[in-house]
Amino acid sequence: MSDRTPEQSADVVARLRTAFATGRTKPLSWRTSQLEALRTLLTERGEELAAALRSDLGKSREEAYRTEIDFTVREIDHTLDHLADWLRPRPAPVPERLSPATAHTVQDPLGVVLVIAPWNYPLQLLLAPVVGALAAGNCVVAKPSELSPATSRAVADLLPRYLDREAVAVVEGAVPETTELLAQRFDHIFYTGNGQVGRIVMRAAAENLTPVTLELGGKSPVFVDRGTDIGVVAARLAATKFMNAGQTCVAPDYVLTDPDTAAELEQALVKALHGLYGEDPATAPDYGRIINERHFDRLTGLLDSGRTVVGGTHDRADRYIAPTVLAGVAPDSPVMREEIFGPILPVVEVADLDEAIAFIGDRDKPLALYAFTESDTTRERLSRETSSGGLTFNLPVAHLTVSDLPFGGVGESGMGNYHGRYSLDTFSHRKAVLDKPLG
Ligand code: NAD
Repeated sequence: MSDRTPEQSADVVARLRTAFATGRTKPLSWRTSQLEALRTLLTERGEELAAALRSDLGKSREEAYRTEIDFTVREIDHTLDHLADWLRPRPAPVPERLSPATAHTVQDPLGVVLVIAPWNYPLQLLLAPVVGALAAGNCVVAKPSELSPATSRAVADLLPRYLDREAVAVVEGAVPETTELLAQRFDHIFYTGNGQVGRIVMRAAAENLTPVTLELGGKSPVFVDRGTDIGVVAARLAATKFMNAGQTCVAPDYVLTDPDTAAELEQALVKALHGLYGEDPATAPDYGRIINERHFDRLTGLLDSGRTVVGGTHDRADRYIAPTVLAGVAPDSPVMREEIFGPILPVVEVADLDEAIAFIGDRDKPLALYAFTESDTTRERLSRETSSGGLTFNLPVAHLTVSDLPFGGVGESGMGNYHGRYSLDTFSHRKAVLDKPLG
């Protein structure tokens, strides 16, 4: 039961606004009951959701649970464990000249919020923000991606069965429906996707002075330091790059390393990929597919950007592209111009850390920056001399599984952040309260 037609957008928002005005979403008990209901949905309907994810993206059951269903359950559990504590008024010291008086802050819900999700982790990227929005006591319109239709359908069917229908709505659809939604007044818009649509969202939000969170993408580089254990590097790089066939916003996009390490790494990656997906990744149960033909064509157009070390094969009918490593890639080659968002890993040679830092600094600020290193100097220099949404040493992607870390970008990779208590902050207003006695 979803609210499907564009004309209904205004009605959906009006219905949610009425519900918010009653105050029903404010008590802690409502918030926890909604989070518990969402948890029940994910555990009772996990198999249905995993099947939808397989249909949309060829995701294996294991990957569907690990990166989408269980991921969201963990986010819910973390929030349930801490919510009462996070919501406690935070006292603030009062300056002497106002004394006696007390001051504190409280976190007010914003009202009706809109969450717009992309197709690559279509469940997690819709529901993890919804967890934060509900925890903060808001009504929510959730807009799944039309490019992952099975998951969109499943969420539209299931959410109203488990959650408070007066306060939570799913609106399915593509550009026309989203445009119609964006014409409504929201109290916050949380958008995950590409920067071009991010600009459209922000423009629409500006009309109503609606704050936005933009979770965008871009090229996330990996620096591999000289003298690092290449077997470990290759194994961790392959596992995180080729998960979901490379269609991960924080996937390692390209590698920067010196020529000697590059040669060693390329061979180690061949071995690591063989270990992960066997002789023929096309038959590996854990290897995903490209979302659609448009992305397939875009990606196969990038395969000539360097010398193929491994992979390079593809099959349009199956939307399959083999995990591919390209060596000797020039910094201005096609594969280096935009976020790859697919199973192609270029290795770009740089002389040293100085050149790597300059290379990163010349480009858009990444959503994530990764480095494999055992050197504290390298760690400190990357931390001090680069800017990125997140910085992770020796295990790409893992930072986003830490609920106590904010997840978000900077510059072209986005604005704002979420997960854990950062989601609560994103979806609330921290209200200042001062109380001065009359006497
Ligand atoms: P997408 O095409 O599914 O679009 C995202 C959402 O925007 C969808 O719900 C879609 O309906 C809506 N949309 C599309 N065109 C629109 C328009 N003209 N007006 C209004 N709404 C519109 O997903 P995508 O953008 O291809 O996603 C891939 C991008 O998202 C990559 O750049 C990736 O790095 C980024 N991403 C970022 C994160 C993150 O957490 N920072 C996570 C996943 C993906």
